Amino acid sequence: MTNDYKENYFKVESNFNWDEYFLLQAMIASFKSKDPSTKVGCVIVDKNNHQVTMGYNGMVAGIDEGQLPWGKIKTVPLEHQKYAYVVHAETNAILHTNISLEDCKAYVTLFPCNECAKLIASKKINEVIYLSDKHRDLETNKIAKKIFKLAGIKYRTVKMDESHLERLNQHLTHLITDT
Ligand SMILES: [Zn+2]
Repeated sequence: MTNDYKENYFKVESNFNWDEYFLLQAMIASFKSKDPSTKVGCVIVDKNNHQVTMGYNGMVAGIDEGQLPWGKIKTVPLEHQKYAYVVHAETNAILHTNISLEDCKAYVTLFPCNECAKLIASKKINEVIYLSDKHRDLETNKIAKKIFKLAGIKYRTVKMDESHLERLNQHLTHLITDT
């Protein structure tokens, strides 16, 4: 390296690695969900770490949400439960692009259900990185893992560190006050 102007040459580092960065993007996507109980986000990226698509859980697009229930109490008919109408984050992300998702990675805030796992596998996404697996005891979760295993899809979790969030908060605070 040149010795000229060396005061401008110094080592810098990113605040987030790619996994942390895209999980954070998925977390931000989840924040847009109107679901009062479970907000989920998904970001799908290609092998060059370029974001291809994103989604969050929400009501079927293009219909009057005011006519639909957000409640999840299962003692009433399915027609009056949110489960009948909510499209999951991963499914929305897949629906929102016409680009091939082959060999892409899906970053999700919550481990996928079996219905989304079907689509993830059918689209030949090859890795799922998740924040939480809190529904690990549900049958739908176990079936999703079976689908991933049979399809050769790897899955792993990434822990987010609160110190990252503190630095992010400082950065965001700086952005909105530095006007
Ligand atoms: Zn799902």
